[in-house]
Amino acid sequence: MPEPITIATWPFGKLAVEVAMKALAKGEPALDAALAGAQAVEDDTTIRNSVGFGSLPDRLGRLTLDACLMDGRTLSCGAVACVEHIKHPAALARRVMEKTPHVLLVGEAAKWFALQQGFPLEVPYTAESIKEWLDAHPERKKKDDKKPTSADGASDININEFNHDTVTVLSLDKKGHLGGVCTTSGLAYKLPGRVGDSPIIGAGLYVDDLAGAAGATGVGEEIIRIGGSLFIAEQMRAGKSAQEACELACKRSNAAAGRRGVHPARVAFLALDPKGGVGAACTEKADFKYAVGRGDKIELLQAKEIGPKA
Ligand code: ASP
Repeated sequence: MPEPITIATWPFGKLAVEVAMKALAKGEPALDAALAGAQAVEDDTTIRNSVGFGSLPDRLGRLTLDACLMDGRTLSCGAVACVEHIKHPAALARRVMEKTPHVLLVGEAAKWFALQQGFPLEVPYTAESIKEWLDAHPERKKKDDKKPTSADGASDININEFNHDTVTVLSLDKKGHLGGVCTTSGLAYKLPGRVGDSPIIGAGLYVDDLAGAAGATGVGEEIIRIGGSLFIAEQMRAGKSAQEACELACKRSNAAAGRRGVHPARVAFLALDPKGGVGAACTEKADFKYAVGRGDKIELLQAKEIGPKA
């Protein structure tokens, strides 16, 4: 049987890894562990620019959240997108998976479903998040005005450790099953209604015990364009290592940008194979760090950067 392992995006993913590893040590299934880890990050409003309540809103100052999860044993999955006032979108995604015949619910209707399921409506803003939005409001910075609206504007968005908003958590449990969760407030100052890769199964997350688990962070438009996480899972299914598969996804993303004549956007991928092999890679200057928990040890690693000429 494999040793339990959890990996998660960005330095704040360490919290998710700590929580998930404790659950795995108790023998909990990978999906439960990954969800508990992701929810710990959703709950922590002190993590600057992180996921969940207190994180960066859209252009109108409204915080809308996206999340999904997938069980590698059964390929069961659920997702919600553009949901307001619900603190735990990943747990809501799980209800979509378990209580409906559907995979994805969005917006107001997802909120109504949350209410039916007993989730409370809550105020998603903190004093800090309101101040930050007022300070950084794009309308106050004329030079930024065109970025989110131009056709390839998303490609210019600079993702780094301080402005990304996504935690993706991938776990392998004692029984050898994989589970994954992705939760986010999406790109900071996005257009209202915009949904990125994070709640899209196959883009922001894909998990299959027979292939591997993969997740993404960065400019969601670019990740959707190449079906990033499914692409990585299929590479692992075909025999590539988790690391090779992530690097290939970065190359594909770079190539897709080249075909449109734009500079590659910042995207990052991480992957976990069914035997516990880990991989991560990012495009140029994405400066992607990820947390890995194995046994008692949790470390923060730097992903390999794949430039447009690689
Ligand atoms: N991938 C997320 C999105 O495009 C953003 C991020 O990873 O920070 O919504």
